[in-house]
Amino acid sequence: MQISSKDFETKTAEELVQWTIDRYGLQAGLACSFGMEDMVLIDIIAKLKGPITIFTLDTGRLHEETYQIMDRVRSHYGLEIKTYFPNLEQVQKLVREKGFFSFKESIENRKECCGIRKVEPLNRALGELDAWVTGLRRDQAVTRTETPKVLEDGDHPPLVKINPLADWTQDQVESYIEQHKVPVNALHKKNYPSIGCAPCTRPIEPGEDIRAGRWWWENPEHKECGLHPRN
Ligand code: SF4
Repeated sequence: MQISSKDFETKTAEELVQWTIDRYGLQAGLACSFGMEDMVLIDIIAKLKGPITIFTLDTGRLHEETYQIMDRVRSHYGLEIKTYFPNLEQVQKLVREKGFFSFKESIENRKECCGIRKVEPLNRALGELDAWVTGLRRDQAVTRTETPKVLEDGDHPPLVKINPLADWTQDQVESYIEQHKVPVNALHKKNYPSIGCAPCTRPIEPGEDIRAGRWWWENPEHKECGLHPRN
């Protein structure tokens, strides 16, 4: 079936998740970094009782709080989380040659680190799937304003990428979490609206963009780690 993003624009998040479950089942995977959007999607998946794969990338540089929410998801929802780690030899080579903080030195070095710790494991995870689900939203960043709800993923053909929350606002995400008593990452209370690796994420100040704390030393248009090159 040819995917036309227009056909999905009016579908709700629940309808899109149900469509994903019906069409792909365990061959669809939710890529989860345990931010608020991912927790909303986990809650929707749990309520729909869908068989769908939930996976995460453990870069080796995550916050303690992120590991805690992973375990909370297991106990609260009884869901299994598939964890993908970076290639050991690539990490050893990077650290041996450039140290533990090379990503602060240039965009190239930052992309190299994200490539090893995130993109390669993501590609391995996606290699086992036919479709992937993400918590991307259009108003998260200037790099995400055109995000369709469903698209043929040109970066990972022949995968289909599903973004059920593409048209949600931050307020909608927070309301859902409150209304459904969804457990969340403790970092949010410490002013981290966007969750990433510990050394590359800082709390934001009042009035700052919600992704201002990610790679804060870079320009906004560079602030993607390579997981979502073209939205
Ligand atoms: S976010 Fe930072 S530590 Fe994590 S993979 Fe990217 S550059 Fe490396």
